[in-house]
Amino acid sequence: MTYQNVLIVSNLIGSARATEVYKKAASRFDEDAKELFVTQTERKYVEDLAAKHAGFDLVVGVGGGVAVDVAKFIGARSKARVIAFPTIISTDCIFTSSTAVREGGTVKYIPSKKPDELIVEYDLLLEAPYRLNVCGWGDILSIHTALWDWKLSADETGEKYDEEVAAQARDILSKACRVDNKEGLATLIECLRCEVDLCDGFGNSRPEEGSEHLFVYSLENHLKQSYPHGELVALGIHEMSKLQKNDVNKICRVMDDLELPYKTKDTGIYASMTKEVITGLPAYVKKHKFFYSVVNKLDSKRVRKPRTNQG
Ligand SMILES: [Zn+2]
Repeated sequence: MTYQNVLIVSNLIGSARATEVYKKAASRFDEDAKELFVTQTERKYVEDLAAKHAGFDLVVGVGGGVAVDVAKFIGARSKARVIAFPTIISTDCIFTSSTAVREGGTVKYIPSKKPDELIVEYDLLLEAPYRLNVCGWGDILSIHTALWDWKLSADETGEKYDEEVAAQARDILSKACRVDNKEGLATLIECLRCEVDLCDGFGNSRPEEGSEHLFVYSLENHLKQSYPHGELVALGIHEMSKLQKNDVNKICRVMDDLELPYKTKDTGIYASMTKEVITGLPAYVKKHKFFYSVVNKLDSKRVRKPRTNQG
């Protein structure tokens, strides 16, 4: 089937290398296709883009998570076919049916659509710096901290917990491997697909999204430049697993083996900023009414202290 109106959404802009990758990927599509370059996901901005770019019957997201997520959003509004053509694997958005947008200092997931097709070109993916693909494991390794938070919530608030789902999530987590070859990348992509299916089947992303993501959503307010999602998640996993006292060495060993940067000094994010974000997390979580997690324990510690002092 040929498409009359094709829109290519991409975040590959700003360097000669990005443009080169974009041209390679976009050459697969109609040369009359309209091009749209996006670098941010503020809700208003994305909504305006979707209103301005209506009437396409094929929308292709070429590049990283931002491009794919925005393509899903515009495509869903136009009831168009959506193709995800990632040039790095840095998030699970190639499989999810919603788009993460930023609004009011936090992240909201707006229903959009699961891509109708996923193009995986291993040669192109392997041309990307290793760091930009390995961070795709962030949305899998987050299972480590997310399950801990979920269980805590089940014990303390009575939230529904499913051990069978947790076991399946742990199984996906155990498959983490290096991504410097086709097999490794294929494993990562398959794990992301399984993780999204598991969450969809369960009904929410509790098995995969915990306090490490809350940390990321808050941290992003402090950053002047955008970072690959998975890399921020890795930093969050490290910081939150320490707060949880949750097998920190074990998860760090996995990230070390993968060469996935997770320490402040490796990610280029100041330790002082990380500290500030963690200090502010209880208020942030309360303000945005996020789910129960280890962050609530920080809050209760802080609240309880004055009471003890007062006797
Ligand atoms: Zn994520």
